[in-house]
Amino acid sequence: MRRKLIAGNWKMNGSLTANEILLAGIKADIGRPDCAVAVCVPAPYLAQCQSLLNGSPVAWGGQDISVHASGAYTGEVAGAMLADFRSTYVIVGHSERRSCHGESNEVVARKAASALASGLTPIVCVGETLEEREAGRTGDVVAAQLDAVLDGLQAEQIAKLVIAYEPVWAIGTGKTATPQMAEEVHALLRSRLIARNPGAAEVVQILYGGSMKPDNAAELMAMPNIDGGLIGGASLKASDFLAIVRAAC
Ligand code: PEP
Repeated sequence: MRRKLIAGNWKMNGSLTANEILLAGIKADIGRPDCAVAVCVPAPYLAQCQSLLNGSPVAWGGQDISVHASGAYTGEVAGAMLADFRSTYVIVGHSERRSCHGESNEVVARKAASALASGLTPIVCVGETLEEREAGRTGDVVAAQLDAVLDGLQAEQIAKLVIAYEPVWAIGTGKTATPQMAEEVHALLRSRLIARNPGAAEVVQILYGGSMKPDNAAELMAMPNIDGGLIGGASLKASDFLAIVRAAC
C-alpha cells in the first residue's frame, strides 16, 4: 500500500508575511496526517520554511533545480543549495518550465538526475496539452516524457522518484480530468515503471495535478493508481490545502 503524498506548488506566490500566515494556518490544524505533506516554494523562502516547518509533519522543497552542480550559471539554484535548507523535494519539468523556459525532455531528465544526486526527491511532472489530447496523443506524449527520465537512471534509482501527471489543459484552469481519465494515464505511467523495475513501480507515488480542489480530491484519490496530488492554487489557502490533505488520509 503506497502512502499518499499531498504536495503544494506555490508557484511564484508568497511573501514573508503571507507565508507566515499560511504556514501557521496549516500547522495549527494539520494534526498527525497519515499521508505525507509538503510545500514546494520559491527558493528565497526555503530558509523561512526550514525555520517554521522544522519538527512539523510538513516537508518542504523547491520548484526547479539546475542541471549543474555549481559555477557560472547566473540565476540557477543547485541541488546542494536546496539540500542546504533541508529540502526533501524538488519539482522538475513542471509544464510552466517546459513552456515558458523551453525545458526539453532531456533537460528534465538531467534535472531529475541532479535532484537524486543531491539526495532530493524529484517530483517529475508529465502531461499533455489540449491539442495533444484531442489528437489522441496523450499516451505517447506522457510516455516519452517519463521514458526520457527513466533512461537516465539506474533501475534502483527509479524507486526514489515521485511522478506527477498534470494535464496542461487542467492546470490553473478549473478544468479537471475525470477520475477515470486520470486513472487511465496513471495506469499507463505505472506500466512504464513496471517495465523498468517492477519492485520500484509498486512504491513510486504517482500524483495527479490540475485544478485539484477540496470538492474533487477524494474521488480522484480513490482511484487505484492515484497516490496523491500536486496542488497549485488550492495550496495557497490553508483551509483548502488541509481539506485536500484530509481527503488523502
Ligand atoms: C500546478 O501548478 O502544479 C497545479 C496543479 O496548479 P493548479 O492546482 O492551480 O491547477
